[in-house]
Amino acid sequence: RCENFSRITDWCHALIRSLAPREGNYIDATMGKGNDTLLLARLAGEQGQVLAFDIQKEALDMTKALLKENGVEDRAKLILDGHEQMDRYAKKESMDVICFNFGYLPGGDHNIATAAKTSVAAVQKGLEILKHGGFMSLCIYSGGDTGFEEKETLLAFLKELSPGEYTVILQEYYNRKNHPPLPVLIFKK
Ligand code: SAM
Repeated sequence: RCENFSRITDWCHALIRSLAPREGNYIDATMGKGNDTLLLARLAGEQGQVLAFDIQKEALDMTKALLKENGVEDRAKLILDGHEQMDRYAKKESMDVICFNFGYLPGGDHNIATAAKTSVAAVQKGLEILKHGGFMSLCIYSGGDTGFEEKETLLAFLKELSPGEYTVILQEYYNRKNHPPLPVLIFKK
């Protein structure tokens, strides 16, 4: 059966799986329930490593359990800190892939969510931390409890990135109403 990509995360996972070098160094900037961390930990194999960030201990607990269940808990370092601090944990030009899935913890408190200012700061730091040839995957949401500020601020920031340094590709759930999620890839040249 072919995947229908009705969920943005399935689409971003397919892109990451097809584009990411294996056994690399990866960051999951928004750990949540750990689905992205698990994907990256699988790609990391025995040689690679994942750093995963969240500001909620609940997210770390869920992710730890998910990784353990799948036998890959030793491949990821789970960090209870904001992604806007990621440069404290990773060196410049050291990461192959950085993954963001903005918003709130599914099933959790909708008030504890990513926010325009820190999200842009984190993407900016992420771009410094990415290797040349590496890429970033962003799942951007809007509408509902999330509102529009974060999406608009991120898109304004991405629009200004130098085309000589980065390729930014925005995709669209074109036939979907009510503010569909927005998948974005940023390739660092
Ligand atoms: N990747 C997750 C998964 O597979 O379940 C989903 C992520 S969820 C949509 C967004 C997460 O971002 C929430 O768990 C929230 O706590 C976290 N978050 C909010 N602000 C953050 C920040 N400044 N730094 C890191 N994580 C943050």
